[in-house]
Amino acid sequence: MKIAIIGAGPSGLSAAKNSIQEGHDVDVYEQTDRIGGTWVFTKEVGLDKYGLPIHTSMYEGLRTNLPKELMEFENFSYPENKTSFITQDTVIKYLDNYTNHFQLSKHIKFNHHVIKVDPLPDDKWNITSKNLIKNELQHKIYDAIIVCTGNFYTPFVPSIRGQKNFIGTSFHSHNYRHADVFRNKRVVVLGAGPSGTGISGLLSGVAKEVYISFSGSLLWAIPSSVIKKPRIALVKENSVQFSDGTEANVDAILYCTGYTTTFPFLSKETGIEVDDNWVKPLYKHIININHPTMAIIGITIRQCPFPLNEFQAKFFLAYIKGTFQKTKNEMWEEYNQEIMDLNMRGVQKKNYHLLGAQQGLYLDVLADTANITRIKPVIHRLYMFQKSLPKTVSYKIINENEFTYDEN
Ligand code: FAD
Repeated sequence: MKIAIIGAGPSGLSAAKNSIQEGHDVDVYEQTDRIGGTWVFTKEVGLDKYGLPIHTSMYEGLRTNLPKELMEFENFSYPENKTSFITQDTVIKYLDNYTNHFQLSKHIKFNHHVIKVDPLPDDKWNITSKNLIKNELQHKIYDAIIVCTGNFYTPFVPSIRGQKNFIGTSFHSHNYRHADVFRNKRVVVLGAGPSGTGISGLLSGVAKEVYISFSGSLLWAIPSSVIKKPRIALVKENSVQFSDGTEANVDAILYCTGYTTTFPFLSKETGIEVDDNWVKPLYKHIININHPTMAIIGITIRQCPFPLNEFQAKFFLAYIKGTFQKTKNEMWEEYNQEIMDLNMRGVQKKNYHLLGAQQGLYLDVLADTANITRIKPVIHRLYMFQKSLPKTVSYKIINENEFTYDEN
């Protein structure tokens, strides 16, 4: 089959490797000039030289929030290294090695921005892309399409009372690159997800004062010098008032408030809609039920993106190969049931793709449905276990069920 893959980040690379191994004829469209997606660091923010929004949200000093043992593709390990929580450059080297080892570059159309994806009769696809260097539009027809464009590139900034009155600096973590911009400043970081906790840790000792404002509990440790505060109720000219009535004078507000999932290139005819980060209708979070020769990879949240996204691609490849059969009606039936269950449990739409502790079960269902080998159980065990320990621990996977760890 002729397969188009959109995006040469981690998901696009593993989708390409598996598609090629299945004997498909593959083109990977990548709008930038290199592989790596979010893992590419650049000082640039805003628009690139072609006028496209900078995709990556990577910042200097980032350490992974998952151990590298949970950031591996099938049968391809990181070089021996005691540290489990690695830096951006180790991840990008790993991705470069993977690309070279499986000779993926020759399949990648770099500097090709996909502008539009339209379904054709017989569930084929017309891809319109722009060759950014030649400034030329191109159209090409494919039998199947795998969308791997990531979901952390359209910043979400909540509305807060008085926000417009603030006279200091404010921007989203998507545009944060290094701690120095806040040197000797008083900063309030909004949100305590991976970016909020990671960045407030990096700012401590550089900025004059760091506040982290969040609701719920802290999932990741932060230095004791970072002052914990509840949600911001009101923004004034040069201060913020928290919901407990306390106030802090600040020079900067950094929004680490997450991303909105968008697919600006998918035409209405693809039948894909996004409603508060719920991408629908996707069978098992992957296959477009309206046009099942399209897969969207990597929209599940709170899981291990590298192995899981590769597994999603393998599931889709098994489907288009005919290893398992599912009619659209059967997909709709299962899908509607799953949505009903989510509703009954009171899950908010924005969390419909959240896996968390369900990751293992989800992957086993994919494996059993598609008749492919299950992911090693140690991956799920380690994923659940590592949450409880600091990000300084080193892990070692011993066999498909067990791991050890060293706290020094
Ligand atoms: P991306 O990495 O986003 O790659 C998408 C690619 O698609 C990009 O190269 C982009 O240029 C290309 N593209 C987009 N639109 C188009 C278009 N129209 N035409 C052509 N090309 C296009 N995960 C972990 O496992 N561990 C971590 O520690 C971790 N830390 C993270 C820290 C930050 C700050 C962020 C933002 C994410 C982090 N993640 C982490 C999650 C991360 O998103 C995944 O690891 C991984 O990058 C997802 O890969 P992807 O290929 O799906 O998407």
